[in-house]
Amino acid sequence: MLLSQYFMPTLKETPSDAQIASHRLMLRAGMIYQTSAGIYGWLPMATRVLENIQRIVREEQDRAGAQEVILPTIQSADLWKQSGRYDAYGQEMLRFKDRHEREILYTPTAEEAITDIAAHHIKSYRDLPKLLYQIQWKFRDEIRPRFGVMRGREFLMKDCYSFDIDYEGALRSYQLMLEAYIKSFIRMGLTAIPVKADPGAIGGNLSQEFHVLASTGESLIYYDQKLDTLLQDPKNIDVDQLMNIYAAEETLHNPKECAVPEAQLKQARGIEVGHIFYFGTKYSEAFNMKVSGPTGNMIIPHMGSYGIGISRLVGAIIEANHDDAGIIWPEGVAPFKVGLISIRTDDEATTKTCRHLYETLQNQGISVLYDDREERPGAKFATMDLMGAPWQLRVGPKGLEKGLIELKNRRTGETQELSIDSALSYLMQQLSH
Ligand code: ATP
Ligand code: MG
Repeated sequence: MLLSQYFMPTLKETPSDAQIASHRLMLRAGMIYQTSAGIYGWLPMATRVLENIQRIVREEQDRAGAQEVILPTIQSADLWKQSGRYDAYGQEMLRFKDRHEREILYTPTAEEAITDIAAHHIKSYRDLPKLLYQIQWKFRDEIRPRFGVMRGREFLMKDCYSFDIDYEGALRSYQLMLEAYIKSFIRMGLTAIPVKADPGAIGGNLSQEFHVLASTGESLIYYDQKLDTLLQDPKNIDVDQLMNIYAAEETLHNPKECAVPEAQLKQARGIEVGHIFYFGTKYSEAFNMKVSGPTGNMIIPHMGSYGIGISRLVGAIIEANHDDAGIIWPEGVAPFKVGLISIRTDDEATTKTCRHLYETLQNQGISVLYDDREERPGAKFATMDLMGAPWQLRVGPKGLEKGLIELKNRRTGETQELSIDSALSYLMQQLSH
């Protein structure tokens, strides 16, 4: 992508109404446009990040055996009356009427819709287990939308629902999702702590929230510091340990009952980016879902639901990955892997080298944002630091006289001078995994 043509309306001034870094940076980098409170338009760069997050989530959901569906965003009130949530949900639910005066709503979550479908079509224990997920916009009329996309009213969520014949099956589905979540978050460059959550009316211990550590997080969490190392390697996930190791939100943390030695207990603020929980037969009963068992007996399936805040993650990733100069995208989600800067657009050798780098990298499937604008080098460096590509290539006549270009690692700030070919092969090696 040529920056001269790219729609990235950056702001020079820091927006005064944005309270946290990710919100400020998303506005400054021209990623989002607020159309009304908690409702945003996603501009090209943010859309790319959203796509990258979705790709990772999809791959891991699919790998766990879940199948993607798309459920309607607008649903009939009748569906929600059947579960009793039409009245229970309260003011967060956006309700309206169609031209026939029928009550409809913009869905805040989809347990009802998916259970209705499952109840109609799943009739035998042989059809189970089933894990069905969607990535779909939700609406919740939050009383205080804030922190940009972090607590929006309209937001993108991945929601998955599991159907099993019994508790043991539901536990297996839960564990598959736990593993998929850990893998997804690691691939996004995040440490997301699985924290014991309030199981609600169901009881039991199958309810965990995933919290990305960031000083601006809304919740305070306590966790065994062993988790820091357990959450590093996506190929080596010990699900049993992750279900039993201590991590709890402030309200559920009881220092007297916590067996973790004080020196090993960490305290941090977290942003909730996901939630997995088992809720038994609450919805299958409400929708009269029954499957025949092996002996002709009738079974009410056990269900769980598993959410990831896709759009909130964009903010959470920035909260956990930025510095004074701007965003530092983890490679897995970066809108562009490489930012290419031409220091002198009027120099022929510079332009030729830039084109060569741009085309070679793109041919290798590596996304590049090429700053080909006629601008001062200082302004270009600042823009590239702000938009946060993990790698920067700087090309100018002085270096080229010696056959060298500069490669900068956005996270460490380290720069090295390399020949064109070694810069290319270094980048391809770094970005090939
Ligand atoms: P919170 O406590 O932050 O309001 P929640 O418990 O209401 O979250 P869930 O119903 O579990 O959230 O939804 C699944 C995920 O959707 C959450 O983990 C979160 O990442 C995301 N999410 C929930 N509400 C919002 C919102 N208003 N804006 C953006 N993302 C949200
Ligand atoms: Mg909420």
